[in-house]
Amino acid sequence: MAEQVVYESTVKEIANRKRLTHWFQWQQMTGTPLYYILPSAKWLSLGRKRQPGIRYITFDDLAELILDETKESYVAIGEEDRHLFFQQFLEEDALGGTHDRHQAKAYADTYGQIKRLGLEVEEYTAGLESLKPLFKRYEQATVNENRLLDPEQKILVAANRLSKRPSLMTGAVVVDGFYDFSPLQYRLITALKKADAPFHVYLPQATFAIAKQTLNDLLSLGFEQKTVHHRNDLMTESISVKAASTTEEQYYGLMQDIILSEKPYDAFGIVLADEKADEAVLFRVAKFLGVPLQRSKRRSARDSAILHWLDYVLRMPSRAATSWEQLPLLELIMKLTFKSGASFALAKKSFLATGDVADEGIERLIELVRGNVWRKRDTFLAYLHQLERLLDDSELSSLYEQRMRESHETWRAQEIAFELHVMTYLKSLVQEKRQELEEKGLMAFTIRLDLFREWLHYQLERKKFTIEKGRERGVSIHTWRDVPLFQGDKLYVTSMNEGTFPAPHSLQGYVQERDLYSLPIPYGAPTQHVFKMKQEAYFDQLFYIAPEIVFSYIKGMNPNEPFLPSPFLDRYVATETYEWTFEKRMEAPFALTVGEQQEKAAHFLGKGYVINGLSPEIERIHQHVERLKTGEEALSEPLSAQHTLSVTALEQYARCPFRFGMERIFAVKEPMKKDVRVSPLDLGHLIHQVIQHIYEEEDLIGQPFHRLSETDKGRIGQKVESVFLTLWEEVEQRYLSLSRLELELIKREWLKRLRKWWEAERKHFWDHEPVKEMAIYSLERSVSLPIRLPSGTTITLTGKVDRIDVDHEGFTIYDYKTGQAHLKMEEDVPSGLKLQLPLYMIAAGQQLKEKKAYGASYISLKEPEKRANNGLWKPEHVGKGSRFRVSAFCKNRHEQLGTIDFLHAFNLDERIEQLWQGMHEDFSVMPLDCSKSCPYHAVCRVTPEQREEGETSWQ
Ligand code: SF4
Repeated sequence: MAEQVVYESTVKEIANRKRLTHWFQWQQMTGTPLYYILPSAKWLSLGRKRQPGIRYITFDDLAELILDETKESYVAIGEEDRHLFFQQFLEEDALGGTHDRHQAKAYADTYGQIKRLGLEVEEYTAGLESLKPLFKRYEQATVNENRLLDPEQKILVAANRLSKRPSLMTGAVVVDGFYDFSPLQYRLITALKKADAPFHVYLPQATFAIAKQTLNDLLSLGFEQKTVHHRNDLMTESISVKAASTTEEQYYGLMQDIILSEKPYDAFGIVLADEKADEAVLFRVAKFLGVPLQRSKRRSARDSAILHWLDYVLRMPSRAATSWEQLPLLELIMKLTFKSGASFALAKKSFLATGDVADEGIERLIELVRGNVWRKRDTFLAYLHQLERLLDDSELSSLYEQRMRESHETWRAQEIAFELHVMTYLKSLVQEKRQELEEKGLMAFTIRLDLFREWLHYQLERKKFTIEKGRERGVSIHTWRDVPLFQGDKLYVTSMNEGTFPAPHSLQGYVQERDLYSLPIPYGAPTQHVFKMKQEAYFDQLFYIAPEIVFSYIKGMNPNEPFLPSPFLDRYVATETYEWTFEKRMEAPFALTVGEQQEKAAHFLGKGYVINGLSPEIERIHQHVERLKTGEEALSEPLSAQHTLSVTALEQYARCPFRFGMERIFAVKEPMKKDVRVSPLDLGHLIHQVIQHIYEEEDLIGQPFHRLSETDKGRIGQKVESVFLTLWEEVEQRYLSLSRLELELIKREWLKRLRKWWEAERKHFWDHEPVKEMAIYSLERSVSLPIRLPSGTTITLTGKVDRIDVDHEGFTIYDYKTGQAHLKMEEDVPSGLKLQLPLYMIAAGQQLKEKKAYGASYISLKEPEKRANNGLWKPEHVGKGSRFRVSAFCKNRHEQLGTIDFLHAFNLDERIEQLWQGMHEDFSVMPLDCSKSCPYHAVCRVTPEQREEGETSWQ
């Protein structure tokens, strides 16, 4: 009868040197192989370092060893594979129809949870009867037919085999550092016990409630108890609690403590209560402050360009016809091949314009992907073969090796090395999986493409590569499991917030807490009570580990609604005396590093303080920011003056000098982007073409309105549509990246607007008795207007009038607009925002010498009937009885319209001189009309104050 003993031990004694030496010697003496089970990878590596010559393993490894002894072949599969199986089953049941993917996950999780409870499917007697056939089907497809074992099945099958054949266990087992065991682990422990293997369990701190329960469980299994000795080995003498405003400040605060201390870095340790959320912040702050950490920095293959590329390749839409549609592929390949900066931009531009990138390597990769068609469903093996070929044909490995040799920048070399590691790992993963399937005769195993993609994702997501090695003498970082490894003086336990510690506990899938009480789980049922005891043990163990402990939690920025500390800190929170906040850190009269000194200088500069001795870098940024604040962008040398310019240029400069400079002077083009609509410029051009075509083709220029017959009016209405449709075809050719549906909707919208427009034209002109003698005099007529400016310089303003109507005595002018058109004479004219109508009227008046101006109006294609506050009129043409149907609400009326006196009435000559001079030298950010859709916003960085200043700048 072999010895099977449970020892009461202490936290500090886990895997200690003396104990390990003892078991090493025992192994030597007895010649029996010894398996030393420890709770985590960190513990395993510590054991190997402290006492080589012993086999350190996990419970999973032990199960594998037993299975190897059975000589039965099997393939280990992961949790994600289980999920894939359930998805396939549901898909088959839905006969190709839709099924809920979340449901498949819930079923797979439920099955996994039942197995983690150490139960066979039929032993689960708490319901879920309808799911049992599905679970059996899974077992049939995995364990029975294909010898595939998921992690839970591996332990269960090993325990079952060992129960039947005790000879499978040929060595002795020592378990150390566990407070408790899961039901599955108990299944294996029970089988080992039955197999009469030498079995020794060291139970740390058996006074903890959870450890006490484990002790009782082991005793009831027949273990003999040995108490070494009980001593009060509590170590902690000082406990404090700190509140931090943010996670970042929490780590700045504790790092500052560490740096200011006299002790070496390895005297300090950090337990991350919220490791997932905090790890990246911890690394960032430690790097900024130059604090070395023992933990290596690792990066998941999930972040690799290779995965993003493969993800796209496996999803690639078959209808990626246009260059815009293929652009994501080009961008991924550029990233993959480390093309950046100007070469990236140029390749992109060339690709969009011509479909080529003038780079053989890139084009080869694009072609490779294009020629790689993936079947929607295939054997797993076929997918692996295809992926293997794609990776080989891509020749990315050799490209990376070459780039590594050529790279002179460390950060870039690191990036390339990371992609190379991912590629190497991926190739071996695919090769191993392929060989495994072939060896086990699973060549016919079929899978859907999206499931294959998920499998690939999962594999790469969990693979991590070290990108920065930890430093042996740095600050140690711990989890609750491995914190007993800490040997230093002061331990920081971070992010101890309510909801983070204790972490919420839940069972997976459809298994409920109440089920646990009725199921045949002899030991280790994961109830809320057990979970609570375990969390208490994790917390209480700290006081046996470090002489000084600092707990910290995040309080947040809102004093009225602070985040709360963990209830475990209730006993100590009264000791909280200091908060780690950004403000306090900035106000500290010292800086720990040059980086922090610069940060502080920048902070106080931003607050308006005068700082002496700024670093050249901060000084440069400061001056830059100060200049940006003024918005002033004047040229040191004015451009040579142009004496002939268009009225629209003046308007554009008045709207925004900066935008005018970008567009008209420096010709800075907007960034290329995929068309998501037909450009307003193109639409404006199209509509003007339609109108011109109709009036010129129908010979209506010069024809008094009353002469057009009813028949012709009806016919013209139809012609408007047919002309539009003919011209629209050209627009469609230019906008191939828009969908048919989008183009169709835009087309219908404009057909509707043109119909309304013709109705309005009839109402205001062709059917309107009071203007029956009037006629269109000209369309698109060029005009020019010499103006003598107050300084004595004469300039000539030019423009094109959309339409001029005349009768014997006078004229009106019209300007067609595709969008809304408003005009507020008292504001828009003197500011220079709307100069076309008043200046064109003067210019037209000078051409039509005998005639006087009646008025001028915009005709909006959105509201073609409107004749109020969208034009300028002589007072007699406004209100009741207006020949031009100008509503009495129209405020834009003026006696001097169409004469040079109008200019003087609004001091327009002065304003025009101001604008004219400015457009040769001053391109400041001072917009009168700042458009939300302006493409230069990212460059001008206009502030609300600058907008406000701009609006009043002309007055
Ligand atoms: S965003 Fe406004 S201020 Fe800036 S360039 Fe455009 S219009 Fe001018």
